[in-house]
Amino acid sequence: MKFTLNNRFTKQLPADSILENTRRQVINACFSYVTPKQTTNPELVHVSDDMLTTLGLSKEDSITKEFLNVFTGNSLLPDTKPYAMCYGGHQFGNWAGQLGDGRAINLAEVKHNNKTWALQLKGAGETPYSRTADGLAVLRSSVREYLCSEAMHYLGVPTTRALSIALTGDNVLRDILYNGNAAYEKGAIVTRVAPSFLRFGNYQLLAAREDTTTLTTLVDYTIKNHFSHLGNPSKETYISFFKEVAEKTLEMIVHWQRVGFVHGVMNTDNMSILGLTIDYGPYGWLEGYDVDWTPNTTDAENRRYRYSNQPNVGLWNLFQLANALFPLINDAAPLEAILDEYKSAYESDSLQMMRSKIGLYDEFDTDFTLIQELEANLQLVETDMTIFYRMLANFNVDAPNKALILLEDAFYNTAALTDQVKSKWNKWFTAYASRLKLENITAAKRKEQMNLVNPKYVLRNYMSQLAIDAAENGDYTLINELYTLLKQPYSEQHKYKKWFAKRPEWARHKVGCSMLSCSS
Ligand code: AMP
Ligand code: MG
Repeated sequence: MKFTLNNRFTKQLPADSILENTRRQVINACFSYVTPKQTTNPELVHVSDDMLTTLGLSKEDSITKEFLNVFTGNSLLPDTKPYAMCYGGHQFGNWAGQLGDGRAINLAEVKHNNKTWALQLKGAGETPYSRTADGLAVLRSSVREYLCSEAMHYLGVPTTRALSIALTGDNVLRDILYNGNAAYEKGAIVTRVAPSFLRFGNYQLLAAREDTTTLTTLVDYTIKNHFSHLGNPSKETYISFFKEVAEKTLEMIVHWQRVGFVHGVMNTDNMSILGLTIDYGPYGWLEGYDVDWTPNTTDAENRRYRYSNQPNVGLWNLFQLANALFPLINDAAPLEAILDEYKSAYESDSLQMMRSKIGLYDEFDTDFTLIQELEANLQLVETDMTIFYRMLANFNVDAPNKALILLEDAFYNTAALTDQVKSKWNKWFTAYASRLKLENITAAKRKEQMNLVNPKYVLRNYMSQLAIDAAENGDYTLINELYTLLKQPYSEQHKYKKWFAKRPEWARHKVGCSMLSCSS
């Protein structure tokens, strides 16, 4: 296993001068050197073949002892010094001060095919940022992060990636529902990969501490290494930088809305500066279309991070980032203008995205209302978002009154389709048929296009749970099956058609399927 190192982060940014691994406030620095914890009995569970190739590794590399040891923290790559990043963040709307990589350890940055990737172990032990926790991760949440981050990539959603998932052989104590019933679970480590793991919170913490020197160093670093097309740092470049972060953040969130992904913990420490989906915790997928839904039980009361609020939270988070960058710009107007643009861009981008989901390629003023009515109808009775949109591609413009039968599988309880509900749907289908007739596209072509934006397969919460239950018993075949299935989420894949199905009833109220907490 051979990597070309390109350690930009540690070379170009100030390090914490203390090398001891004690909990502390780390000032005037962007990271602390740390050492991953030795694991007792590491065992690989799964490796992403695509990430292997992306990093210039072979399948043979992945079965070596060295691979296993490096990606569970038991040995270090030659000439590398692992580190934990220092950041803060707003959690559920409140400034939380320093957070940092409490259980993520960056091994190194490596270069392959002219691209640089940071390799990071999640769950490899304590760091100065671990606060009251243990720095570890359990199998259950690691399977969820591993499968979902790869699935998101294949769905075309910007995301961090995952190279591998391994068991550590150590047990980890967790209280899943925070109700005093702590139990031991299998410890695991996911190797995450991204061009950078920088978050809004990295900038925020330096700004909160009024450390403008380090803040400037970090922003300049970010521009030089990740936004180099913007040119040399200057006030104008800082503004363009913020504008691009806002655009990328919005693009990511519009994708989430398209596929029905709910992140669950959109705290500013979980917002990537590159607009990547990051930190897969209590995330979930809309099954029944309910815009108020959040999978995160920790947020059940306020539902701050519910599906429909994700675009607003993106804006709120960008506002915090703007505050953090302000000391470098000293001019609120351009930042405010960018935040205003986010709002109008959200409206037009989401309208465009929704048009594509229902196969509209021309633009009519009435489209907005048509889409609003569709979203209202989807919430009349419990309707599966993924199945509905996927099957809508089969809609026959000449038989709108047959559409309800065509889409029957999308409804969780067809008995709930009262005459009143049916009549609302038939009215919508009739309007939809008239609108489609204005399009200049064949039905076959429309279906083909719609199937490129409406996934057939997503990682439903119960699917992960089944894979987790099997993995807890040492059986990884389902992890492999789901990994393979989700590589082609837009393809028919007849041999996997059992996964194109509504959530089974047993999963409705099961922990891990519809209810998740931050305990991971
Ligand atoms: P999250 O919202 O899960 O992304 O985590 C928020 C903060 O808590 C981050 O600083 C994490 O590094 C930290 N954290 C979460 N779980 C643990 C853990 N088991 N041990 C140490 N730190 C943790
Ligand atoms: Mg986090």
